[in-house]
Amino acid sequence: MARTKYEQHCSFCGRPKSEAVILITGAEGNICDSCVEQAQEIIEREMSQTKKKFKFALPKTLKPASIKAYLDQYVIGQEEAKKILSVAVYNHYKRLNQPQTDEVEIEKSNIIMVGHTGTGKTLLARTIARFLNVPFAIVDATVFTEAGYVGEDVESILSRLLQVCDYDTDAAEKGIVYIDEIDKIARKGDNPSITRDVSGEGVQQSLLKLLEGSDVYVPPQGGRKHPEQKMIKINTEKILFICGGAFGGLEKIIARRIQKNVVGFKTDQLIGNNETEESLLRYVGPQDIRAFGLIPELIGRLPIVTYLEPLDRTALHDILVKPKNALIKQYQKLFEMEGIALHFTEEAIALLVDKAVEFKLGARGLRSICEAVMTDAMFELPSLSNIKSFEVTAQYVQEKLSQEKIKTLRMAS
Ligand code: ADP
Repeated sequence: MARTKYEQHCSFCGRPKSEAVILITGAEGNICDSCVEQAQEIIEREMSQTKKKFKFALPKTLKPASIKAYLDQYVIGQEEAKKILSVAVYNHYKRLNQPQTDEVEIEKSNIIMVGHTGTGKTLLARTIARFLNVPFAIVDATVFTEAGYVGEDVESILSRLLQVCDYDTDAAEKGIVYIDEIDKIARKGDNPSITRDVSGEGVQQSLLKLLEGSDVYVPPQGGRKHPEQKMIKINTEKILFICGGAFGGLEKIIARRIQKNVVGFKTDQLIGNNETEESLLRYVGPQDIRAFGLIPELIGRLPIVTYLEPLDRTALHDILVKPKNALIKQYQKLFEMEGIALHFTEEAIALLVDKAVEFKLGARGLRSICEAVMTDAMFELPSLSNIKSFEVTAQYVQEKLSQEKIKTLRMAS
């Protein structure tokens, strides 16, 4: 390579300017076009290695029982749903690792979870996500509308998944998506032609495409697709979809079906004498979801239907004290950081549960009730250096839930 004394050259390969197509000049040196190209390749290779934080191989020790044992640490009760989710996730891994040459292709089994609000559907999804090594996104079905109307396109569900894995399409194509409030896109009435149902059946139709496993063009940033935007192609064949919803009023549909099926028999012989309307959810089947307003094609793509039980007093009590990050444990941690040992008496805990039941706030209300009780202590105690321990008694709870605070809690319910 001829290098004349005065000719500029590439500081990396030494190539003189006359031999390079382009030589970019910097403050301390120069770089030629071929070195730029090589550098680009190195960057891409390194980046793709750092992106590989997701492991799609099933650890040998991981069995459905161990997934459930993990869920048990955070989610109280809901045995059936936990079991079904553990098996679904386990099979999801197996499907991801199935050789392409295999004759028997394992199809994915998307899931639908039915249960009142605040019974732990999102918590289950979040806990599974924490446990897994696959990309996981949680989306809310209420933001979607049919194409052409104000709202988001359903494809933006996949944009969230892409964002979670830094736009690594390979990883996104093996991920899991939790779609919350799926009941909110139920058909609004029996006759869809009278009023336009832009956030109901139309959205269900567009969801179909995603759920059945096909190539979908996704706007990278989510929201609405527009013509100038560069789209990313994602194949949804291996993405596992879990849908959740409260399906308010579904019990009545189930009760009607059961009664119809047993003409001539007493219904309570079939469903037991001590069934309350709330506990009828355990008999939920695809036909009930259809009667609620989800279209049969969509239900066909969500073959596993499971339910979450309403939370009784014992469950609410356990939620306060048992999970790894139980509310009471969280307050104790906060106080421990101030050097104060915090203790709740059993009567105090029972009263907190009573209030959650009384205001019909369920597990979600436990947090606001605890906050109302603990705010004063959290405000005052850090300034008092001589306090080393603090006990929350039933009397203290009663005092703090003054009429004024109870009113706001009631209003929130
Ligand atoms: P959903 O999605 O069913 O409406 P969430 O999962 O959002 O309800 O529950 C709200 C909160 O209530 C959770 O963050 C959690 O603190 C508590 N919670 C609800 N159900 C349970 C449960 N089964 N076990 C433990 N905590 C629960």
